[in-house]
Amino acid sequence: MRQLTCEIIAIGTEILLGDIVNTNASHMARGLASIGVNTYHQQVVGDNPQRLKEALQEAYQHANVVITSGGLGPTEDDLSKETGAEFFGLPLEMNEKARAHIEAYMNRTRRTITENNWKQAMLPQGCIPLYNDNGTAPGFILDKDQRILIMLPGPPSEIVPMFDEQVIPYLKSFSGQVMVSRTLHICGIGESSVEDKLHDQMLAMKNPTLAPYAKEGIVDLRITAKAATEQEARTMIRPVEDQIRSMFGNYVFGADEDTLEGTVVNLLEKRGWKIATAESCTGGWVSGRIVSFPGASAVLEGALVTYSNEAKMEHLNVRKETLDAYGAVSEQTAREMAEGAAKAFHTETAVSTTGIAGPTGGSREKPVGTVCIGLYVNGKVSAKTVHFSRRRNSNRQLAAVQALNLLRLAILEEK
Ligand code: ATP
Ligand code: MG
Repeated sequence: MRQLTCEIIAIGTEILLGDIVNTNASHMARGLASIGVNTYHQQVVGDNPQRLKEALQEAYQHANVVITSGGLGPTEDDLSKETGAEFFGLPLEMNEKARAHIEAYMNRTRRTITENNWKQAMLPQGCIPLYNDNGTAPGFILDKDQRILIMLPGPPSEIVPMFDEQVIPYLKSFSGQVMVSRTLHICGIGESSVEDKLHDQMLAMKNPTLAPYAKEGIVDLRITAKAATEQEARTMIRPVEDQIRSMFGNYVFGADEDTLEGTVVNLLEKRGWKIATAESCTGGWVSGRIVSFPGASAVLEGALVTYSNEAKMEHLNVRKETLDAYGAVSEQTAREMAEGAAKAFHTETAVSTTGIAGPTGGSREKPVGTVCIGLYVNGKVSAKTVHFSRRRNSNRQLAAVQALNLLRLAILEEK
């Protein structure tokens, strides 16, 4: 086992000048963090051998692994690997594996091989070549005198797969440890409440670690454990998962690959229930999300987008008196919409949305972002008003998430 500390050097004058953004460094830094490799510094240098040499000298002051991106191409200004080899006092020599791979790539993409291509197969003596499935420049790994140099090409389409598929597994093999993550998905309580409840614990935890991520109405909690084996890491994750599940109960709707809509579809299918939707402000996003889950056909009977009052009356039997007395955006209307959808499609469940997405149309009692969600579950009708405050389409998206989540919670309550 060798403790690795890595430094990334991005090579390219375009990056220095700000013409391109250093996305390669960001991608690699995230990958290194995910496998527990420390990184404390990053550098950017232009296409200049002397400054690259200085950058390497500097980097090995702090790190025992240096990863570079760029400058491996066949053109004159591509001098990375010459500089890298020289830095280690090694000659470049024809690497037969790299050569065969370039040949295969050129044949596969039906290109003619030029002298320049063979030059790309010249790599530092004793290195491990890295295959490039999306271009001709091979990368390489050099492990000499307790220092590792990994040189990769610049184009993101080439470096990203090489890094993910070849570099990450190589670096992982040093740690003698595996990292396993499990992500729990929570919906129905805000990010700040989740963080509030877990704040002290999150700070105290070292292994496993616990980290929250919020996106579009859903809070993800990622539990990550490091251990000698995957089995052992999973055993460490389990009690933390159990604790979070008992803390947040039904608000936890799934883990890892699970989606909110998938969970709803599965719950309905298990009970043998069908669903219909009646949407106003969400304009089909609730049904759209349901349909995005493969297997939706087992439960989704039909979906209506009823935008005008007339459409709500005609297709859902919403009463004129209800609209006149309470308005289109009201729990009363939402209830009648849900009930109307269930009746129209003969389903056991239905969900409806009606709200003020904005930017106009708000009032003091019903500001922009007010959304009423109606539910029909096995004969029981209910409604809830939720408030968002963001922009139009963000409100619509959050409303669709809340509608699915309220439906999910209502189904869970029906034993
Ligand atoms: P090529 O064979 O294309 O010359 P190379 O390995 O020599 O590849 P560079 O010449 O340094 O790499 O860069 C090629 C292209 O890759 C750049 O024009 C740029 O679009 C992209 N690129 C280079 N470095 C980065 C980076 N750090 N982040 C994102 N994109 C980059
Ligand atoms: Mg180049």
